[in-house]
This record gives sequence, C-alpha cells and structure tokens, in this order.
Amino acid sequence: MSALSLRDVRLLQLRVDLHKYMEEQVPGFSIEKKEKSSLMKLLSILLFFNKSFMTKYATTAYPKIYVPTFWGKHKRTQLMELEMLIHEFVHLSDRKKYGHLFNIIYLAPQIFSLLALAALWNPWFLLALGFLLPWPSPGRAWLEYRGYRMSIAFYYWTRGKKCNMNWVARQFTGPNYYFMFPFKKYIIKRLESDLKNIEKDDIPNDMRKIKDIIKKRF
Ligand SMILES: [Zn+2]
Repeated sequence: MSALSLRDVRLLQLRVDLHKYMEEQVPGFSIEKKEKSSLMKLLSILLFFNKSFMTKYATTAYPKIYVPTFWGKHKRTQLMELEMLIHEFVHLSDRKKYGHLFNIIYLAPQIFSLLALAALWNPWFLLALGFLLPWPSPGRAWLEYRGYRMSIAFYYWTRGKKCNMNWVARQFTGPNYYFMFPFKKYIIKRLESDLKNIEKDDIPNDMRKIKDIIKKRF
C-alpha cells in the first residue's frame, strides 16, 4: 500500500467534511453502491439510452446517493468523486425542498406515459405512450442546470480553472439525460455567465456554504 500524500490527506478531510454537512442537511443521507442496489439495476434496464448508467454516473434516490462501480477504487478519481457528490447533493437539497413535485418535474413529460395504464378502461389512453419519446424536458434541464452549476463551481474552486463546457453541454443535449435540452449554445452561455459570477464570488447562499467547506481544505 502506498503512503498518503498531503493531497490525499486533504481530500480525505474534505470528503469527511462534506459527508458530515450532507448528513446534517438531509436526514437519512447515505452513499450506496449502485451494483448492490436492485432499484439501480432495474433503472439501468429502463434507462437503456444511458450506456454508462452503472459505471460512470451517480444517481440520487432521496435521501441516498447511489455511486457507480469505479467509486473509491482509484486515487486519480478522488476529486472527481467529490465533484459528483456535491452535484448530487444539489438534487437532494432540491428534492427536500420541493418534495414529490421534484420527481414529477424531473421525470416529465416522459412520466405521463403512465397514463397509458388507463387503456384497460379506454384504449385511447394508449396514445399516452407517445410521452415516452425523447421530448425535451425543461424541468429536468432546470434541475440538472442547478446541479451542473455547482459542478463547474467545484471544479473552479479546487482546480483553479474552467471545466470543459462542451462536455457539460453535451449532458443536456445528448442521450445521458434523454435529450432533455436541445439548445447547446444557450446552456453554454448560461454556464459561462455563472462561472464569471463564481470567479467574482457573487454566488447564492447554498453555494456559499459548500465553498466555505472546500476552502478550509483547498
Ligand atoms: Zn444531476
């Protein structure tokens, strides 16, 4: 086993600090492995369009965060894991604030395909299956925008530079979130403007709290 560097120690401390803060903010908070969760295995089948669901993406099911297979196995991904953690924490906070409305906003319009169950009563309800198509989801895009705004801030605070905005924009326009928002230029412009505010330290209160925790270690 190799010795811990100063950086490793700081990252461990930051992990403990963030974990403690999240436990305080979200009752019942815990981190679980995706490969050990039946719910996540089922979701990976339903979300067939995201090929990396089990291996690369963390997923929130309130009040838990389910983490992908590589989690905790490599030194080189330690910082990225914390970045994913605070992104998911934004979802947990929003879910706590908005309750079940969060789930409907996040899953709309595709969730309305469940109306097709009423076809047992009237076959016209089968038309609701049309909601399964990859229609844009402004609600999901808004909630993910809030998460990715925190991700780009974390990247900036810990690495002192801008993350790959094109990669972030592709999360909105591509299959990973079922093509939730097709306007790539708009999302890049919005995040670039947020980054300017982050650089100027002009940030909302929820981000301030996370920044204070990070800056104790970085
Ligand atoms: Zn997210």
